[in-house]
Amino acid sequence: LLLPMGLLVSTLLVGLVIWVSRQRLSPEKELAIAIRKREFVVHYQPIIDLSNGRCVAAEALLRWRRPDGRWIGPDLFIPLAEETGLISPLTDLLIERVIEDQAALLRADRDLHISINISARDLESGRFLPVLTEAVTRSGVAPSQIWIEATEQGFIRAEIAAGAVEAARAAGHMVAIDDFGTGYSSLSLLQGLPLDALKIDKSFVEAIATDAATSVVTPHIIDMAHGLKLRIIAEGVETREQEAYLRAAGVRLAQGWLYSHALPASEFATFHQDRKVQGGGASARRARAR
Ligand code: C2E
Ligand code: MG
Ligand code: MG
Ligand code: MG
Repeated sequence: LLLPMGLLVSTLLVGLVIWVSRQRLSPEKELAIAIRKREFVVHYQPIIDLSNGRCVAAEALLRWRRPDGRWIGPDLFIPLAEETGLISPLTDLLIERVIEDQAALLRADRDLHISINISARDLESGRFLPVLTEAVTRSGVAPSQIWIEATEQGFIRAEIAAGAVEAARAAGHMVAIDDFGTGYSSLSLLQGLPLDALKIDKSFVEAIATDAATSVVTPHIIDMAHGLKLRIIAEGVETREQEAYLRAAGVRLAQGWLYSHALPASEFATFHQDRKVQGGGASARRARAR
């Protein structure tokens, strides 16, 4: 009896020490450890072609799954990663995960794309591009199947940004400006950058068909994007009314809860398969219901 008791006590003690030490870690340390331990998964939010209801792409969205089972959203850890320089290894991990999750599907459907979020610091350092190129080449995915999106913040230092965008496009990727309209100096930035696409922030989609002051702005963003020959992706589409408005305004691509939340890789594969055949089958309905 003594031996198992001793074992039990020492196990509890070791557990306690680990628990206490984890409690005392700074958020930065915790994040660094989590990256080293690869505690991140990627969920995929379908992007729909409004002209035929097909799923033509997905946005890769990181989630931190802690060992205690708690999920932490990117709004909490991405800013921390950006402040501390941990974004670079995190972006490497993102690229690795996306290729691991999606290479087979991307090889099987050359018309499918995955869009990844790249931070301002990634754009500045440029380090993500050789990592991405290596991963794409190794896995037999076409570079054109990986889209890159970065917020206006990423494009503020215009000379650096233009070079980074050029390099990414030269490598075959489509580059989009994300959350358009939420930052500042949007208009002057747009003229100077060799972009392919613009993502309308969900606040402007939300304002459609309401009397919010923002609703006046939405058609101008769309017109301007068309004028600049940019592809448009509307984000945060939640209602049929918003969808109808966007389609009528000539917006081709959309994502949002109307179609699906971000899905784990295997569920996205089912959703995509469904949406290839018709404008949404059983799994699409399930995804909407989540
Ligand atoms: P984002 O790039 O603008 O991503 C869209 C966000 O809107 C996602 O939140 C998504 O879940 C949410 N969303 C999608 N559809 C709807 C809708 O119909 N209604 C509403 N209300 N929300 C919707 P999430 O996943 O929490 O991501 C938050 C932000 O974190 C992202 O905003 C992006 O800026 C950043 N982020 C996520 N993953 C990464 C990553 O891998 N790298 C970097 N650098 N940033 C990331
Ligand atoms: Mg994004
Ligand atoms: Mg947004
Ligand atoms: Mg966005």
